[in-house]
Amino acid sequence: MCCVDDRIQEAAGQFVRTRFSPHFFWYAMPGGALAVNEHGALLLPALQVAVARGIKRIALINHTGCAAFPSFADQQEELQAHRNSLLNARALLQQEFPGIEVACVLLRGPWQVEEV
Ligand SMILES: [Zn+2]
Repeated sequence: MCCVDDRIQEAAGQFVRTRFSPHFFWYAMPGGALAVNEHGALLLPALQVAVARGIKRIALINHTGCAAFPSFADQQEELQAHRNSLLNARALLQQEFPGIEVACVLLRGPWQVEEV
C-alpha cells in the first residue's frame, strides 16, 4: 500500500521487488498508511483479495513531502507523524490479517528507504 505520488513509484517498486518478491499486488492511495487509517473500511476488502490469493506480506509505504499530510513545523514532527501513521496502520492490518507480515517503510526524499 503506497502513496500515489509519482515521485516515489520507482523507489517503492524497487524496494518491494528486492525485499519481498518480483510479483505483487500494487495498491496506491494518497498518503499510503494514512489512507489505511482513514479509509480502512474501503481498503480492507481490496486487500482481502490479495490475502485470498496467498500473499504473505504487506508493505505500507509513506514518504516525506507527502501532500496528503498536513504541513509540519519541522522535519522531526513530520517524521514522527509518518511513524505514527505507519505503526497505526500496521496494527490495524495485523488485527485484520493475522499471520501476514506488515512492513512499514518511509521513503525520505530523494528516496532513501527507512524501515520503521
Ligand atoms: Zn504522498
